[in-house]
Amino acid sequence: MACDRLEYMREWRRKNREKIRQYKKRYYHKHKTLNPRTSLSPEEKKQRMKEYMRSWYVKNKGKVSAYSKEYYQKNRAKKRETSRRSYLRHRKMRLARQKEKHAKNRQLVLLHYSKGEMKCSCCGCVDEWALSIDHIENDGANERKRLGKPSGNPFYRWLIAEHFPRGYQVLCRNCNWGKRVYGECPHRKN
Ligand SMILES: [Zn+2]
Ligand SMILES: [Zn+2]
Repeated sequence: MACDRLEYMREWRRKNREKIRQYKKRYYHKHKTLNPRTSLSPEEKKQRMKEYMRSWYVKNKGKVSAYSKEYYQKNRAKKRETSRRSYLRHRKMRLARQKEKHAKNRQLVLLHYSKGEMKCSCCGCVDEWALSIDHIENDGANERKRLGKPSGNPFYRWLIAEHFPRGYQVLCRNCNWGKRVYGECPHRKN
C-alpha cells in the first residue's frame, strides 16, 4: 500500500537523520568545485545575476508592463482614497488654522495703518470687527484691480509683502461708507 510505504520512508528518514545529514555534507563538498556558481568570484556572480535579470526582463517585458500598469491603476485609486480621507480628517483643523492666520494678517495690517492704536482714523471707533483698510486717494477699487488683489486676506498679504506701502488708512465701516457716498466722511465736513 502506498500509505504504508510513505509511512515506512518517513520512519526510515527519522531513524537515519544523522546519516542523511552526513551524506548531504559529503556530497556538497565533493561537487562544490564542479558547481560553477559556487566557484565564481563575487564580481562574476554579480555580473551573472545582472545578465540573468536582464534576460529575464526582456523575456517577461509584456508581463512586467502589464503588472506595473495594474499596480499603478490599483494604487492610484487607493492613493486618491487615502488623500481624500486625510483631507476630510484634517479639513476642520486646516480651516481653523487658516482663519487664525488671516486674522493675524488683518490685525498686523490694521495695527500698522492706525499706528498701533487699532482705531478708525476718522471717528476713533475701536471696534476691531468694524475696521478696514481704506485707500486714501479714493481709488481703492482701481488699486486692487490693478494689483490683481481682490480684497480681504490676499490684500492684507500683499500689503505685508510690500512692507506696508503709504497711502492707506484705517476706517470703520461707518466712515468708509460716509467717504464713499459723500466723497469725504460727514464727520470731517462738520
Ligand atoms: Zn469711523
Ligand atoms: Zn468718520
